[in-house]
Amino acid sequence: MSGFSKLETHFGASNYAPLPVMIVRGEGVFVWDQDGRRYIDMMGAYSAASFGHCHPRLVAALSAQAGRLDTISRAFFSDTLGPFLARACELTGMDVALPMNSGAEAVETALKAARKWAYKVKGVPQDRAEIIAAEGNFHGRTISIVGFSSVAQYRDGFGPFPPGFRLVPFGDVAALEAAITPHTAAFLVEPIQGEGGINVPPPGYLAEAARICRKHRVLLLCDEVQTGLGRTGGLLACQQDDVKPDGLMLGKALGGGLLPVSLFLARREVMQVFTPGDHGSTFGGNPLAAAVGLAALDTLIDERLIEHAATAGAYLLDRLGSIRNPLIREVRGRGLLAGVELHRERANARFVAERMVRAGVLTKDTHRNTLRFTPPLIIQNQQIDWAIDRFAEVLDEIAEAKVSI
Ligand SMILES: *Cc1c(COP(=O)(O)O)cnc(C)c1O
Repeated sequence: MSGFSKLETHFGASNYAPLPVMIVRGEGVFVWDQDGRRYIDMMGAYSAASFGHCHPRLVAALSAQAGRLDTISRAFFSDTLGPFLARACELTGMDVALPMNSGAEAVETALKAARKWAYKVKGVPQDRAEIIAAEGNFHGRTISIVGFSSVAQYRDGFGPFPPGFRLVPFGDVAALEAAITPHTAAFLVEPIQGEGGINVPPPGYLAEAARICRKHRVLLLCDEVQTGLGRTGGLLACQQDDVKPDGLMLGKALGGGLLPVSLFLARREVMQVFTPGDHGSTFGGNPLAAAVGLAALDTLIDERLIEHAATAGAYLLDRLGSIRNPLIREVRGRGLLAGVELHRERANARFVAERMVRAGVLTKDTHRNTLRFTPPLIIQNQQIDWAIDRFAEVLDEIAEAKVSI
């Protein structure tokens, strides 16, 4: 371990267990360690680095804004926030947007909006609103959000949790309908579960869930913090299912890999429940975030990254699907959101991720013993080839027991 990683380990809380590599520089799909060794980034910062590292147009937008106007708070109007929100609404088809910083904050904002909408608009009795979420969800790390996680570790030691949430199996529309009561405010769902293991629901799931929500006057809240902005080969994953949600959360890639930028977007009927003082964030929508967020949205369109993600993603899934190796249990995904689940008794995904680092490929294990492949959207086919060839070699080495796990 180098001096810097020793410092990070000693003075930092142990809430992460980084893979053994220290990154000092990034450009496009590549990053470099302190010895000048190059790695291909197939992790893409959990999808936050969709534009590739240090994209020149985004860096320019950030530097220009940083030299002109920094944070002023929402106590005043700025000349950057309006254009950013307008562009986000125009692209997503939503009416109104509320800027926050992290994905978790956008989700919290959605939960608050849904509850208040239930009381003020739907007429649910005070403090009785219920929100339904899916098993295997990942919506962030706040107390209220982990309170309805189905991952025991995320909850363990952090209770008591706010009431008013219930879980239904992901992909099961009958269970969703059965869970709805007159007090149900919203159904919160990821179109494809990212952290839960790149779980793709059965075809038609989201459209049917949307129909059920409409029928029972329940808001559909799509968390596209990970799936949104081109990741799955469409601007939004829900649009690929012809679904227009009542509320939408964006984050991760929205900050262009440079800053934390998130949005809760909604229909006006939902968002109008917020009045001045109800909710806020000191840094949410600050001029730097707005400038970078707008540049990220413009770059996504101008560089045709969504179309590119669709074709590169099909290529990636095809390459992953054609690896013949007994360690692989299943390949899942859509677009450039791909996961490879390994047989638990044969290989440990974390161990494979460590071997991959040594082979020059950054990936990360996630739930269900799955390796995630979520590279920057700008990735080219020959770069995919190189990374997947290394992956296949690592799997072969382990399968042939040249290395012990
Ligand atoms: C990452 C993620 C979040 C949380 O985002 P943070 O910025 O880490 O708070 C929320 N929802 C989904 C679907 C995510 O993937």
